[in-house]
Amino acid sequence: MNKTFFNLIQEVQKEGRCHHCGGCVTFCSAINYGALELDDDGKPRFGTIEKCIECGLCYSICPETDELNQEIRENIGWEAPFGKIVGVSVSRARDEKIWEKGTDGGSVTAILTCLFDTGRIDGAIVSKNTEQGRVPFLATTSQELLDSAGSCFNHSHGMTQLAEEYTTFSPSIKALEKLRAAMPSRIAFVGTPCQINTMRKMQALGIVPSDSIAYCFGLFCSGNFLFDTQAFKPIEEKYQFKYADVEKINIKEYFIFSLTSGRQIQVSIDDLKDLKRGACNFCRDFSAEYADISFGGLGADQGWTTAITRTPTGTSVMALAMEKVLTPWQYRENIKTITQAENKVISACKEKKQQAKQHVRANEIGDVRIAL
Ligand SMILES: Cc1cc2nc3c(=O)[nH]c(=O)nc-3n(C[C@H](O)[C@H](O)[C@H](O)COP(=O)(O)OP(=O)(O)OC[C@H]3O[C@@H](n4cnc5c(N)ncnc54)[C@H](O)[C@@H]3O)c2cc1C
Ligand code: SF4
Ligand code: SF4
Ligand code: SF4
Repeated sequence: MNKTFFNLIQEVQKEGRCHHCGGCVTFCSAINYGALELDDDGKPRFGTIEKCIECGLCYSICPETDELNQEIRENIGWEAPFGKIVGVSVSRARDEKIWEKGTDGGSVTAILTCLFDTGRIDGAIVSKNTEQGRVPFLATTSQELLDSAGSCFNHSHGMTQLAEEYTTFSPSIKALEKLRAAMPSRIAFVGTPCQINTMRKMQALGIVPSDSIAYCFGLFCSGNFLFDTQAFKPIEEKYQFKYADVEKINIKEYFIFSLTSGRQIQVSIDDLKDLKRGACNFCRDFSAEYADISFGGLGADQGWTTAITRTPTGTSVMALAMEKVLTPWQYRENIKTITQAENKVISACKEKKQQAKQHVRANEIGDVRIAL
């Protein structure tokens, strides 16, 4: 018998391992089974349980199950222990507007814009800040791509947007065929490692809507942090600043809070552990091991982005971008900088896997408070 969403409730949600990536809901909605929905907190649940046909696919694509991992590793040429590393680079966007708005060097947005302007993609699934918080959306113009630049460390259900795009227009599998002709078919997807994992699983199964994704761009990830005003108080007291004055947040070995006054505050990641979603403590992937290219600020100076190229697709994208839209780090000791960046990323990968192992062990002996 197939494992279904009931098993996800037992094995993933009740264990505190659901990180709300939205993959299960995305699939169930996109194929129009419609049994699942997200609650107000972004947690998946049965919406109309009678619609569940027990296909088992939500279970297979959940990044917290081991199903399909072997297959996706073979598909993208994954190598132990931290995924394939074809190349490492440090770069920034040449376009000043993108660079200024970007989280680190704006390289992700510069690459998306380049792919769009050269006709390689019709759009990209990205996320942007709104009054309601960070929300995912399908950007289909250069301006929308620019609007999406920058990061915010609370949650964005990147996977769900794709399903919404599909379910709005596709009440049946038959209609999906028609829809595909009308809808953008070459989309880039930007997401955290867990979202990239789910996307790859969907691609391995050849299920809609993942067949529209031409490029997977991953972000390094220490966790999802929810900057709740109350919970942030001890940080404000310890580091003597107000969250209301924060203009920008970067994350490297530590958090960097840039204030409107121009002051920058470095806060240790460990000091923010209580603001991290509980499920992220189980996560073993720091560097988006299944992406075409993975990006982060770690290893690069302020205003620059570190990138790890992992697949042939990623390699050709990076070559195009370096030629057209990115400025590579050209400090005299270039090689040394790149090697240092790679070493820092590798240490972060090791540390995250180690921490996840310890957390699983603590969970097994009942020493962990589960945050659903
Ligand atoms: C939750 C989270 C945790 C991170 N943790 C680390 C870390 O520990 N160490 C590190 O070095 N880097 C981390 N990063 C990555 C880093 O913050 C930058 O996103 C990365 O360096 C790319 O910078 P950029 O200037 O090139 O990207 P930009 O040009 O600014 O583009 C960023 C892209 O990411 C998308 N995006 C932003 N937030 C989200 C989100 N929540 N979910 C999905 N997509 C999003 C934007 O829409 C945009 O397309 C994290 C990012 C996120 C979202
Ligand atoms: S129909 Fe399939 S994808 Fe939807 S909840 Fe049931 S088992 Fe999961
Ligand atoms: S981790 Fe993602 S796919 Fe798994 S149950 Fe949670 S939302 Fe669904
Ligand atoms: S740490 Fe990042 S990649 Fe891992 S589950 Fe949390 S948000 Fe997803």
